[in-house]
Amino acid sequence: MAFPWQDISWVLLDMDGTLLDKHFDDYFWETLVPDEYARKKGLPLALAKDLVYARYQREEGTLNWTDIDFWSRELDLDIPSLKEGIRHLIEVHPDAEAFLQFLRQQGKKVALVTNAHYKTLNLKMNHVGLLDYFDEVISSFDLGTPKEDMRFWEILQEKISFNPDHTLLVDDNAEVLDSARRYGIKYLLFKAKSSSQQDPESHPDFPSIESFLELMD
Ligand SMILES: [Mg+2]
Repeated sequence: MAFPWQDISWVLLDMDGTLLDKHFDDYFWETLVPDEYARKKGLPLALAKDLVYARYQREEGTLNWTDIDFWSRELDLDIPSLKEGIRHLIEVHPDAEAFLQFLRQQGKKVALVTNAHYKTLNLKMNHVGLLDYFDEVISSFDLGTPKEDMRFWEILQEKISFNPDHTLLVDDNAEVLDSARRYGIKYLLFKAKSSSQQDPESHPDFPSIESFLELMD
């Protein structure tokens, strides 16, 4: 793919699944949290899983979804310390750092835009050491609304003054790409390979990349 880099000034990058391996989050929320919940409440694992998953479903697409303090209260577990306990499993996608270096060489402005809670963001970025590559690091919690909400992009635009016609967003969440499209961000790419443990899945509504290497020709 010959990507039109000459037309891009800002690059907005999602964190989980896009730069970092989503396997960490899948394992944490789908396995570790239900296990701990079952243990704490003395429930059979299958029942604990049903209860926990039903609660996840209720909060999908809201700020609660990634608010680890909310989940600590909701599930009566110490979510930050559980995350801390498996920090060694946090991994960067193999192509991500080369891409960030490429963007720096190209002189692009780069922002990390994530729905992750500050505590998660800090834990992960301190672990992987990529913070120096970003001009801006934005959590939805700073802006008061998740990326799935079009207002996120409005507020972000006021904050960092990107021009939507010259901006690229890469995300592994199609709802996020959709809200960015409605706002008017011109270049949108779906990250089809979000977890090292799952096959890549492209999206019918957006151009997809499996690897950032496809953008570095
Ligand atoms: Mg993501």
